[in-house]
Amino acid sequence: EAFNDAVAAANVLNAFIVETPEHALAAADAADQARAAGEAPKPLAGVPLGIKDLFATKGVQTTAASHILGGFKPVYESTITQKLWDAGAGMLGKLNMDQFAMGSSNETSAFGNVISPWRRSDGGNAPLAPGGSSGGSSAVVAGRIAPAATGTDTGGSIRQPAAFTGICGIKPTYGRCSRWGVVAFASSLDQAGPMARTVQDCAIMLEAMSGFDPKDATSLDMPVPAWEAGLSADLKGKRIGIPKEYRVDNMPAEIDALWRQGIEWVKDAGAEVVEVSLPHTKYALPAYYIIAPAEASSNLARYDGVRYGLRDLPEGAGLQDMYAATRAAGFGQEVKRRILIGTYVLSAGFYDAYYNQAQKVRALIARDFDDAWEKCDLLLTPTAPSAAFALGEKSADPIAMYLNDVFTVPSSLAGLPAMSVPAGLDGAGLPLGLQVIGKAFDEQGVLNAGLALE
Ligand code: GLN
Repeated sequence: EAFNDAVAAANVLNAFIVETPEHALAAADAADQARAAGEAPKPLAGVPLGIKDLFATKGVQTTAASHILGGFKPVYESTITQKLWDAGAGMLGKLNMDQFAMGSSNETSAFGNVISPWRRSDGGNAPLAPGGSSGGSSAVVAGRIAPAATGTDTGGSIRQPAAFTGICGIKPTYGRCSRWGVVAFASSLDQAGPMARTVQDCAIMLEAMSGFDPKDATSLDMPVPAWEAGLSADLKGKRIGIPKEYRVDNMPAEIDALWRQGIEWVKDAGAEVVEVSLPHTKYALPAYYIIAPAEASSNLARYDGVRYGLRDLPEGAGLQDMYAATRAAGFGQEVKRRILIGTYVLSAGFYDAYYNQAQKVRALIARDFDDAWEKCDLLLTPTAPSAAFALGEKSADPIAMYLNDVFTVPSSLAGLPAMSVPAGLDGAGLPLGLQVIGKAFDEQGVLNAGLALE
């Protein structure tokens, strides 16, 4: 019943697309039975999770928050969700999100906005964005509806919503978590990860989610470290870099102050703090907003009205008309914008000027990080350049929305592990996050620095 009450509470937030309390109850029952039989508990025994609706769940509608997948019930389970069930967890339901994970506010969903459980303390009572694209995930964890949820992060979609709602979220090294059965947005960037209240919960859940998967060609063939057992807030001997290019114009003074506070906290934990330079940072957003739409335009070609979900077949229409009608009716506006941008930058006449150039910039950004690692072990930055904004505030201006990803996109382009931890409140009482970025495969370093900041 507790689950049912929680799911009912979530209706206010519009956080669920599909509710599956029976799945969570079955996991809880299995955990009870195992305990009664004297078996050692599984790592996530009976834990009811929210699952972002980007993960294919066998027999349970999976929509990516798009009408084009309306009614699609996969006949298979994603590797990540299967691993979570094997670890004893259950599913409360499929969570709302930005359509195909394209967005930073959850406003591109075909199922309506998710509303953040937070309100400003300074009178403004406008409903706030929970961040995006994993906005249902951030809302259910912050709203105490689920102890943890899955998220995915292509350019910040775990970290920015975590920051907006005062929770923790980690995007592991590209390849740690299998992409098999996760609806593809931009395959060279997409990574799944946990969103939870504490760093420790993230460590436990990430351990359950990670591991080599032969079904994903970019999966890392490396053992999964015991991250939870390795947690330590002692940063003695660690050098933490502060990238000077992240001091962007117009950053609110409160975020700058919090960043300085974070520097003091890691020093108190024993770390040495050094200034570093990531000179190509300013090109990261333009490169991302070429590469991600390019890959999306290719990935989304499969929604043709034949293979999945929606089919719009006008009277007497031929195949081409069916494709066009289905895609016109099924995709939302932001998704169409990305497909158009992606197709344009990949077209013969513009490929060299845009896509090729963006790939070169991506290599330079990765090299910036490699150079920084000569001087430091981890980087500390704010997660986002603002606290949660009001729903509707940026939805008419895609560029303003894209700018919110300025601090999260570079580490995505470089495939590096990065985490957001809640670090304080702004003057309106809204949560702000700090981001820790690590070397490839150093999730432990990232989690430990996160613990020192928590
Ligand atoms: N906000 C970014 C975008 O819209 C990132 C989304 C994501 O990480 N899935 O592309």
